[in-house]
Amino acid sequence: MARYTGPVCKLCRREGVKLYLKGDRCFSAKCAIENRAHPPGMHGQKRSKRLSDYGVRLREKQKLRRIYSLGEGPFRKLFAEAAKRKGVTGATFLVLLEQRLDSVVLRLGLANSRAQARQLIGHGHYTVNGKRVTIPSYRVRPGDEITVAKGSEKLVVIQQAVAAARRRKGVPWLEFNPDALKGRFVRTPSRDDLVLPVNEQLIVEYYSR
Ligand code: SF4
Repeated sequence: MARYTGPVCKLCRREGVKLYLKGDRCFSAKCAIENRAHPPGMHGQKRSKRLSDYGVRLREKQKLRRIYSLGEGPFRKLFAEAAKRKGVTGATFLVLLEQRLDSVVLRLGLANSRAQARQLIGHGHYTVNGKRVTIPSYRVRPGDEITVAKGSEKLVVIQQAVAAARRRKGVPWLEFNPDALKGRFVRTPSRDDLVLPVNEQLIVEYYSR
């Protein structure tokens, strides 16, 4: 599936919730959904169609896929892995999404948005346990240490992201030292730790149909 390269705020307006795709701007009054909450397009304000059961499940799946900016292929592949594991499939799926290096870099505050995290990872600006990792889907495990690579500390985008992160509260499964530009994945998050505007059970039902 082709990668979406259009305005990301439209995706939030389409789903009717904040998907936090634009970094610091999402926390400001400039957020598009604060001002124009209706769906995008000429008839956006008129749309009030009742969704079928299938439509509800599809929208929930699309919402989560957009939050993690994944194509249908990798998203479905990760879901299949979650389904094979023991435990509650929906919660396991969310944890696997959070273990991706791009998610960890973003949550730590070492990048401003997921798109930026991916680009910076691809360009080799971060290390995991001292080794440069350039794969955004790399799976981070408890105890792993994520650091800004030598020579990348002064990058303006990283400095800006860290400055913004200092103003926000961190997440309980990660430790972050903004002065050392270093973080640690302490433990895998539980479902209760994850504040996401999705009902993952509907996604499980979508893929089980
Ligand atoms: Fe979504 Fe962020 Fe744009 Fe607000 S600013 S609409 S949360 S991407």
